[in-house]
Amino acid sequence: NLDAAVTVGRQDEVGQLAMAFNAMTAKLKSNTVLRQRFLAGIAHELRTPLTILKANLEGISDGVITPDVEQMSSLTEEVDRLTKLVGELRDLSLLEAGQLQPEFALLDLTQLLRQIVGKIKLLASEKRISLRIETDDRVSVIWADGDMVNQMVYNLVLNAIKYTPDGGQITIAATTKNGMIEIAVTDTGIGIAVEDVEHVFDYFYRVDPARTKASGGTGLGLALVKQMALAHGGQVKVKSKIDKGSTFTVLLPADLHQKRTVSP
Ligand code: ADP
Repeated sequence: NLDAAVTVGRQDEVGQLAMAFNAMTAKLKSNTVLRQRFLAGIAHELRTPLTILKANLEGISDGVITPDVEQMSSLTEEVDRLTKLVGELRDLSLLEAGQLQPEFALLDLTQLLRQIVGKIKLLASEKRISLRIETDDRVSVIWADGDMVNQMVYNLVLNAIKYTPDGGQITIAATTKNGMIEIAVTDTGIGIAVEDVEHVFDYFYRVDPARTKASGGTGLGLALVKQMALAHGGQVKVKSKIDKGSTFTVLLPADLHQKRTVSP
């Protein structure tokens, strides 16, 4: 019974035990709610592309729809969307279970950021968005999983482009502060309201579902960024102001090379 709670009437060990019990029950309850929401989210995300695919396949087999190139490519897009969703869910569950561990290696962060900008600049230029990199000399080489850092920054920059109107600006900055490497992606975009900002790293959370679905997002991008940062022993932060823009920051421990373990 997750509604169980013990009255705390004493300050001694029994009282502390009662408080610990109540805290654990509350946590279990919130985990159950999260789990239910997560499953409902998956079901919802799977249903839309499946419904579209089924309707089109039925139309084709009934002869109501004659498939042309455009139609086939839009169906392929739905399949791609499903594939992406399943891949992201798999990575998230492995990360959460601790079964997908970062493969630490020396990584030239400045070079990686340049590669990302290289890949994404065409997309940005379509919206006349300027992309800038600001790196601190001290962070050029870090000890981290290159694929994960690449995916984290890529997801953040893609979001920044998605949620920034034409003519905006995006800055990717890397610095070290308090023993952490900070990679911050700042945009001059639409921003996020105070009541939404604490939820953006949740699975399937979208501030404006219609808008973000149309842009092909799965609603898992930021959840992945968070889990990958946690897997590195780091964390994520966000600061945002509506109509002004957002800064998403990934923090990674800067002394990771000292924690290197030698395999037997
Ligand atoms: P999605 O696939 O929907 O983009 P994400 O997990 O990447 O999923 O992001 C979750 C939600 O956070 C988005 O739907 C959007 O509402 C909000 N969001 C993410 N990045 C930004 C940003 N740079 N500016 C404004 N809103 C953002």
